[in-house]
Amino acid sequence: MTDGAAPEPDVDAAATGGNHARPIDDVFEQLKTTSSGLSQDEAKARLEAWGANRLPEPPRRSILLRFLLQFHNILIYVLLAAAVVTAFLDHLIDTAVILAVVIVNAVIGLVQEGKAEKAMDAIRQMLAPRASVLRDGARCSVEGEALVPGDVVLLEAGDKVPADLRLLQAHGMSVQEAILTGESVPVEKQTGALTADLPLGDRSNMAYSGTLVTSGQGRGVVTATGSATEIGRISGLLSTVDTLTTPLVNQMNVFGKCLTALILVVGALLFGFGYLVAGFSFDEIFMVVVGLSVAAIPEGLPAVLTITLAIGVQAMARRNAIVRRLPAIETLGSVSVICTDKTGTLTRNEMAVASALSSAHLFRIGGSGYEPKGTISLDNTEVSSADHSILEELARSSALCNDAALREHEGSWVVEGDPMEGALLAFCGKAGLDVRGELSRWTRTDAIPFDASHRYMATLNHDHDDHAYIFVKGAPEQVLTMCRDQRGPAGATEALNTAYWQSRAEEIASLGQRVLALALRTVEPGQTVLEHSDVEGTLTLLGMVGMIDPPRPEAIEAVAECHQAGIRVKMITGDHAGTAMAIGREIALQNPASVLTGRDIDAMDDAALQAVVQDCDIFARTSPEHKLRLVMALQAHNLTVAMTGDGVNDAPALKRADTGIAMGQKGSEAAKEASELVLADDNFASIVAAIRQGRTVYDNLKKVITWTLPTNAGESLTIIVALLFGMTLPVTPIQILWINLITAVTLGIALAFEPTEENTMRRPPRGRTESLLSGTLVWQIVLASLLFVCGVFGVYNYAIEQDYSLELARTMVVNMIVIMEIFYLFFVRNIYGTSLTWQAVRGTGMVWLTVGIVTAAQFAITYLPFLQRVFATEPVAFRDGLLLCATGAVLLAILETEKQIRLRWLAGRRAALPTPE
Ligand code: ATP
Repeated sequence: MTDGAAPEPDVDAAATGGNHARPIDDVFEQLKTTSSGLSQDEAKARLEAWGANRLPEPPRRSILLRFLLQFHNILIYVLLAAAVVTAFLDHLIDTAVILAVVIVNAVIGLVQEGKAEKAMDAIRQMLAPRASVLRDGARCSVEGEALVPGDVVLLEAGDKVPADLRLLQAHGMSVQEAILTGESVPVEKQTGALTADLPLGDRSNMAYSGTLVTSGQGRGVVTATGSATEIGRISGLLSTVDTLTTPLVNQMNVFGKCLTALILVVGALLFGFGYLVAGFSFDEIFMVVVGLSVAAIPEGLPAVLTITLAIGVQAMARRNAIVRRLPAIETLGSVSVICTDKTGTLTRNEMAVASALSSAHLFRIGGSGYEPKGTISLDNTEVSSADHSILEELARSSALCNDAALREHEGSWVVEGDPMEGALLAFCGKAGLDVRGELSRWTRTDAIPFDASHRYMATLNHDHDDHAYIFVKGAPEQVLTMCRDQRGPAGATEALNTAYWQSRAEEIASLGQRVLALALRTVEPGQTVLEHSDVEGTLTLLGMVGMIDPPRPEAIEAVAECHQAGIRVKMITGDHAGTAMAIGREIALQNPASVLTGRDIDAMDDAALQAVVQDCDIFARTSPEHKLRLVMALQAHNLTVAMTGDGVNDAPALKRADTGIAMGQKGSEAAKEASELVLADDNFASIVAAIRQGRTVYDNLKKVITWTLPTNAGESLTIIVALLFGMTLPVTPIQILWINLITAVTLGIALAFEPTEENTMRRPPRGRTESLLSGTLVWQIVLASLLFVCGVFGVYNYAIEQDYSLELARTMVVNMIVIMEIFYLFFVRNIYGTSLTWQAVRGTGMVWLTVGIVTAAQFAITYLPFLQRVFATEPVAFRDGLLLCATGAVLLAILETEKQIRLRWLAGRRAALPTPE
């Protein structure tokens, strides 16, 4: 290796515990790095030398194996057995058709599986974790895969450790290492060197890739990446691939299997009856039984359902909602309450300090974005920060008790870290403080990280002149209880005027601003460790700042859409009640006037909470434990609850909710892992888009089923009726196979692509326990099946009466079934509205494409001599063709009339019900 090139990672040392046993400086030396990390160039060079920080992908099944697996299905076994018997019986054309159909089915299965896998891959890609690192001495966020040995990584509660790290800082940091050690209790971390022969679970100065930071903060230097990490060594473990399925689809698959078994039994009975009792020849009765089996089993259904799901997953991903667990697609459609965070979800999370409050003045702060420039005014007159030393003090505390960084990027200022802390840094600039210069004058020796349960953050800082201070920032109520006195107008300390601060904080909050109090305290220069007890009742309050964070306009629209869709929106925030109410009013929550605070909730038992939870829409100053209680209280009312969350402590509530939704940008890995859905843009509007899509997917699954089953039922009834009345079969098994696999799958796919129906978000949500096969749906399936049978026998009898040949009669029946399927498709497309609008008739590109393909295919088997021989068909006269189309139209008219009567009757019944108060 040439000098200056990246050193090879000391893989063996990492494995045997070398790194945990060394002093940190030795580790730096060995990895040729420092506590301020690598330069961008060096990191790039190392990435090229060692490759990405990624575990090897599990080997994929070969395409041949995947193709063969398509035949591993009870239905296919039945068909293959039929092919063998027909071959023995010398029905070679039938054998060939059955085999062709089996192969086409396998190809379709393979293609849809590929599509589904691609959808899931794309989603995994979108969920790729990021890591905060120091590059060129500054904090920046990079893809987890871009980490290299020598990088210094910053960790905080909720993060998944992105590589194996030797810790150089750990503040109250605990890590859950169950994935490696099986031990679910989090391990406390520290930074001192340890003895060499410790097992993995005892190496408290290391943080291993894949483990979860449950509390505190820390930083560590990367010692191993990718397959060289501990997790890489015990590989084979990579996340199991999620199969594209949901409870509904599973139910349908089970239903399909039971149906197949039932058909086989009925087939065997029929065979026995026909052969032994009714005196059919083996040959004849066997073909009838094959016909029945093929007719009754919905061969194409599983494929079409899976495609419907894959399309839904992709559509949601396009709208920034990433589905982590597929059943969520179904649950989303039935959500009746959304409990959402405020900051960043309903609001933009683009904060700006708008007010600064001292013991004497309320300053207004101007400026735009995160640019650290802007005016400060007092009573509408611009003032200079030089004349108000309190501004400088507020700015200094804001800069030091802060983990974010501001960076200029292509002409605008961006934040690395928490936007609220970014806003504080911008405020420092406006108050005339040079943040970089200030930071270089101080060393932070310890910190208490912000936590939603104690609601403040504190740092212990030492300057170079032997002074040490504790700086604190946090929620006003919290910080006030920690203060002994306050900074007076002349700079001296004076008695704390709690009433003044409380009323001014309320005032700022009622403008919708997030209020933060800033305080400090001097300590002995020798103190290097910070405990909670150091800040209790000993601080001097400097002042407060108010930050604006306007609501997202799209969130306001989305809230209105939810109300139309019968979905209640509730805001659960850690923020002040006044701020929450102001925002609640702006986004037009149903009941923005009443608020329950975390303290109120604590004072209630579960029954009391259940009694009030439905009417209250704003929950303020809550901590994550309250979220869990709120979810349970809402679920007790039989509501389907969607809950958002971002922090590590939100995980239990996210898991408990019917749909847990994590924030993709500001959310921790812990929250994402506990959730069913991740929002790539943290935006409330995306939740509503996902719900709309969830309702659409559920409708489409329902449509596919409603459309498919009558076709199968109609066909099998046809065979059973023919057999019972001793008639010749009006359609042959091969023709039925053709209908089921070629036309039905093609047309069915059109339903998978159906767009959202116009009134989808004007309906109330589906009931929690409502089953798919509702009475109405079963009735619709029965009615359609009977009409199909009538159509078949009507046309067949007509053909026989006209003295047409049996082949021609059967050809007309095949075409009749397909035409009825097409008309029925147009009916099913609008199960909640009318099918007789121009919009409905115009259909979608996909509908007409599939109808075009099927029509062409029908023309081919009816008129092409080669296919006529295979399917035993004869050309249909033009006049008869018209008759078939007219019959299809009559089918649609009957079904539509029945639907309209039913819908009106239902609407009348609903109107007659007493309206709830
Ligand atoms: P939302 O639900 O609106 O997203 P949240 O749950 O994120 O709010 P928290 O982050 O729990 O709210 O913050 C609660 C309060 O704690 C804030 O109103 C603020 O006063 C204070 N706070 C938030 N972040 C910090 C921080 N980094 N340092 C100090 N105090 C903070």
